[in-house]
Amino acid sequence: MAKSRFEYVRTYEQDQVLLPNTYIVIRLDGRGFHRFSAHYGFAKPNDSRALNLMNKSAVSLMKQISDVCGAYGQSDEYSFVLQRRCRLFDRREAKLVSTFASTFTAYYQFYWHDYFPDQPLVASMLPSFDARAVQYPSLAELRDYFSWRQADCHINNLYNTSFWTLIIKGGQTEKEAEHTLMGSNSADKNELLFSRFGINYNNEDAMFRKGTMLIRDISGAPLQTQNPSQKDHIALQKKSKRQVEREEKKRNKAEIVESHDDIIGDNFWRESYKWLS
Ligand code: ATP
Ligand code: ATP
Ligand code: MG
Ligand code: MG
Ligand code: MG
Ligand code: MG
Ligand code: MG
Repeated sequence: MAKSRFEYVRTYEQDQVLLPNTYIVIRLDGRGFHRFSAHYGFAKPNDSRALNLMNKSAVSLMKQISDVCGAYGQSDEYSFVLQRRCRLFDRREAKLVSTFASTFTAYYQFYWHDYFPDQPLVASMLPSFDARAVQYPSLAELRDYFSWRQADCHINNLYNTSFWTLIIKGGQTEKEAEHTLMGSNSADKNELLFSRFGINYNNEDAMFRKGTMLIRDISGAPLQTQNPSQKDHIALQKKSKRQVEREEKKRNKAEIVESHDDIIGDNFWRESYKWLS
């Protein structure tokens, strides 16, 4: 590229580079989706079309960006975890978060019509997503991160299910429902749903209760080194370009598996070798 005397302004750019050998989690969240969901008439408390559109967008992003090992989504948010040795954009934070937010938003808009055929998007109310990156040094924190998001999903969904049942089936106003639930714990809400409305909360749709976990199942396409140690990590950085490309191809071919199970207990993490490398 030709150099000009203006070139120096580039030195004012500040790149935040994320630490090597950490798990990078990029979490996206819909901007102003409380209003957005009201505008397009999302069903309360859970609109499955909207959740399926989130999942479709996340799978599409994972197909395009092979560094993503897995993702967890609920409500208007999605968290993507990148493989530890990820070199994408040389781990520059701004490049990563902006690319994830815009790629996800592009898919969300592209597939909107498939999920909401009767509600065309209007320019004054377009969906957009913010994004942040967080780094976790070990599997312990990464696991706690996912547990945190699923616990959040559970708490919100139990509250929202109780709240909207009191309104829709119980005939209460929003204020009354809020008052009814004030100070109640999980057991109280389960009991209220069951005794007053005959609803067994555990029979509610698993996608609503647990959110959605997506994993890139690489167990059928084994890579040379999974769960690399510190030493391996240095070796991995020295891999030839062809080696890296070959592995990327394998990751691209691996199936992306969707589930709505518990990810807080040990069971899910026993199989983490299948997707977390
Ligand atoms: P912010 O811009 O700060 O994120 P927000 O309005 O998006 O503001 P959130 O805390 O992200 O606030 O909450 C998202 C809101 O979007 C929920 O409270 C809910 O009202 C709505 N929402 C998201 N997904 C769905 C869905 N599948 N069905 C029904 N409502 C939904
Ligand atoms: P990166 O992802 O690193 O940004 P890039 O391929 O987007 O890679 P840029 O340096 O951003 O590289 O350059 C953008 C390229 O896109 C240009 O070199 C040109 O080939 C093409 N391009 C962009 N806008 C136009 C346009 N209006 N007409 C024709 N070509 C364009
Ligand atoms: Mg350019
Ligand atoms: Mg928010
Ligand atoms: Mg939001
Ligand atoms: Mg949110
Ligand atoms: Mg460019």
